[in-house]
Amino acid sequence: MLLTLPSLADSRLNVVATTGMIADVVREIGGERVEVTGLMGPGVDPHLYRQTRSDVVAMSRADAVFWNGLYLEAQLAELLGRLAQRSPVYAVGEAVPKEERLAHEDYVDQPDPHIWMDPSRWRHAVVAVRDALIELDPEATEEFEARTEAYLEELEALDAYAHEVLDTIPASSRVLVTAHDAFGYFGEAYALEVMGIQGFSTESEAGLSRIENLVDLLVKREIGAIFVETSVSERSIRALIEGAAAVGHEVRIGGELFSDAMGPEGTYEGSWLGMLDHNVTTIARALQGSAPELGWQGRLGRDASHTIEEE
Ligand SMILES: [Zn+2]
Repeated sequence: MLLTLPSLADSRLNVVATTGMIADVVREIGGERVEVTGLMGPGVDPHLYRQTRSDVVAMSRADAVFWNGLYLEAQLAELLGRLAQRSPVYAVGEAVPKEERLAHEDYVDQPDPHIWMDPSRWRHAVVAVRDALIELDPEATEEFEARTEAYLEELEALDAYAHEVLDTIPASSRVLVTAHDAFGYFGEAYALEVMGIQGFSTESEAGLSRIENLVDLLVKREIGAIFVETSVSERSIRALIEGAAAVGHEVRIGGELFSDAMGPEGTYEGSWLGMLDHNVTTIARALQGSAPELGWQGRLGRDASHTIEEE
């Protein structure tokens, strides 16, 4: 493996990360030793994302590239495969052991890529980031290890909060309907039944029969709230609400969830911890459970107005 030696002027590692979630973890573990460029900002759909010319330049100049893999960034796979032949490329999602990956009936050989939705699986990616950074900059081993330990403690505390508040959702309301199948691991971790209108990927639109089946289910199970996602079109969710209304069943939007992208940069929701806190708190409150309005650490929604003022 060829490593580009950092210049004397800036000894920091220069790395590129694909999704916001991965960029966030590399920043958390790397601290001051690592300069991170994230390719996909808030609201960007990784299933459909294609590299720009400047992305290609950034990736080829970087000391390393971090991506999820597991077919998430489907359009980047070929380019990253080629890049991996000459510089370090880490697919951190693939650190999740095979037996912990979920399959999908519609995708025979493709595991569910949305591993950041469950802290106990995301933990593997965090450890993979730590190991990669140690490989790239062994002198900072102790620092990377200490930062990882502190971060994993926060991850565990958030996981405990998620169990606590999601457990308050009554049995009859434990169904999570979203625009695409991003919440499989989340549902397994917190004992919620999940249904996406579209599959694992957002590449193909849901057919009419899929919408009709889901409308039947909403009516039969008396589901009162479904969720939109920041990185996916609301069209199919609107179709479900209209379909249910046509047969006299009222369904409302329970909130907007961060599925494949995080909130605005520089806000709490623009971090992995904040994104998960937002999702957990929104889902618990919308499905008749109870959770504090401002979430795990009283920080939800606090940074939004601040950011707008600054811009
Ligand atoms: Zn997705």
